[in-house]
Amino acid sequence: MLHIGIDDTDSAKQGMCTTYIAVLAREKLEKLGIVREIRLVRLNPNIKYKTRGNASVAIAIETDKVREVKEAVINIVQDNAVFSDPNTNPGLVFFEGEPEVLRDFYFRALRDIVTIEEAETIAEAEGAEYVKYKLGRGIIGALAAIGADLEEHTFEAIAYRARGNWGKPRNLDEKSVFEMDALTFPLTFNNIDHSEGKVLITPHTPCPVLFGIRGFSDKVVRNAAEMIKVDEKVEKVQIFKTNQGTDAHLQKVESIAEVRPYSSIVVEGTVIKKPWIISGGHVFFEIEDRTGILRCAAFEPTKKFRDIILRLIEGDRVVAHGGVSKKTVLTVNLEKLYVKKLVKEREVNPTCLVCRKKMESSGRGQGYRCRKCGTKAQEKVMEPFERHIEEKLYSVPPIAMRHLSKPLVKFL
Ligand code: ATP
Repeated sequence: MLHIGIDDTDSAKQGMCTTYIAVLAREKLEKLGIVREIRLVRLNPNIKYKTRGNASVAIAIETDKVREVKEAVINIVQDNAVFSDPNTNPGLVFFEGEPEVLRDFYFRALRDIVTIEEAETIAEAEGAEYVKYKLGRGIIGALAAIGADLEEHTFEAIAYRARGNWGKPRNLDEKSVFEMDALTFPLTFNNIDHSEGKVLITPHTPCPVLFGIRGFSDKVVRNAAEMIKVDEKVEKVQIFKTNQGTDAHLQKVESIAEVRPYSSIVVEGTVIKKPWIISGGHVFFEIEDRTGILRCAAFEPTKKFRDIILRLIEGDRVVAHGGVSKKTVLTVNLEKLYVKKLVKEREVNPTCLVCRKKMESSGRGQGYRCRKCGTKAQEKVMEPFERHIEEKLYSVPPIAMRHLSKPLVKFL
C-alpha cells in the first residue's frame, strides 16, 4: 500500500482547499491503482500557522505503478497549490511502510507543536519520502495524516463547486438543510445551530467547497448530501474518513500544574473566582487544585454557553475541556464543561422555630436571636438554595464548535 499525505496548499484569501487537491489526485490515481481510503485529518487547533481548521489529507492506494502515482500527485500539487500566498508552504509525503510507525508523530502534531525538522527526521528514520515547496511546512501535516489513528472516526461528505463559481456567493436552499437535518440527525451532526437559527454546512471563504455534511456513517452523509438543494452545479462529492467530532485532540491532565500552552486539555478544578464578563461579551472564571490556578474562558462566539458559565459560583467542582492559550495568564478556551459537583447549600442565620422568621446576629461571637420572641441559637445553619445549572456535561453550541470537538449527541 502506498500512503500519500498532502498539506498546506491553500490560502485563506485566494482560495483553494487541500481536500479539493486530494480529490483531483484521487480521480487521477484511480487509473493507476485501487484507492482504498481518503482521509481528512484535523491537527492541533491551537497553532498559528493554520489557514482555517488545520486540515491535512491522506490517500491510501494499492498500486504497482508507484513512480507514476508520485509523478501524478506532484503535478497536481504543483498545478493547484496557491504558491503566491506567503503563508502557503506545501508539503507532500509518500510512504510504503506501516502507517502505525507514524502514530506517535500524529499524536504530537494533534496535541503539540512540532517543527519541520522533526518531521524530516521522522520521515527519514521511517523511510518516508517527502517533497517540500517553499518552507515545506506542509510535510508536518502530510506525515501526521498518514499516521493518524482513525479507530474512532466520523465521515464528511464534501460537495465541490464548478471552477467558474469559486468566490461567488453560495446559494443553497436553507429549507432543504433543515429537512435533511430533521431526517438524518443524530447520524449527521452540526448541520445547523438551532439556538442561533444558522445553517453551518457552508464555508464563508472563496474555496471550492460548496458544503460539507458530517456524520457517523459514510452512507448517511452521502445520502444527506443528495438531499441538499442548490442552484448551481455540484461538480463532485467526496466522502472523507476523518478524526472530526472525536475529541482526539483532548488530553486529560492530572493537575493544573501540567497544563501547557497550545495543548488541548481536560482538567478538573474548583471554581475559586465567580465568573466575570468583559466588554465584547467574553466570560472568564478561575479554577484551582492543589497545584495551581487556571483561567477558563467562554468567548463571545460561544453565545448561550456563556449564560451557563455565568451561573457558576465559588466552590463548584468542574472539569474544563479546551485549548490552552497564553495571553497574560494560561487560559483554557472552553469547548466543553463537565459540571461535576455543584454547591447546593449555603450558610445562613438560623430560623426561629416559633415565629418562622430568620434570626438576627447578636453581635460577634454572641450567636443569634429572634427579634420577635427572643429565642436564641448559637450557630449558623446550612440551607439549600436553587441553582439554575445542572451537574452534567455542557458544550459550546455547534456554531462555536471546533472541527475536532465531539458533539454532545455522542455522549448520550
Ligand atoms: P485548511 O483548513 O484550509 O486546509 P489549514 O487551517 O489546514 O487550512 P494549512 O494551510 O494546512 O492550514 O496550514 C497549517 C500548517 O501547519 C501546515 O503546514 C501543517 O503542516 C502545519 N502544522 C499542522 N499541525 C502542526 C503542529 N502541531 N505543529 C506545527 N505545525 C503544524
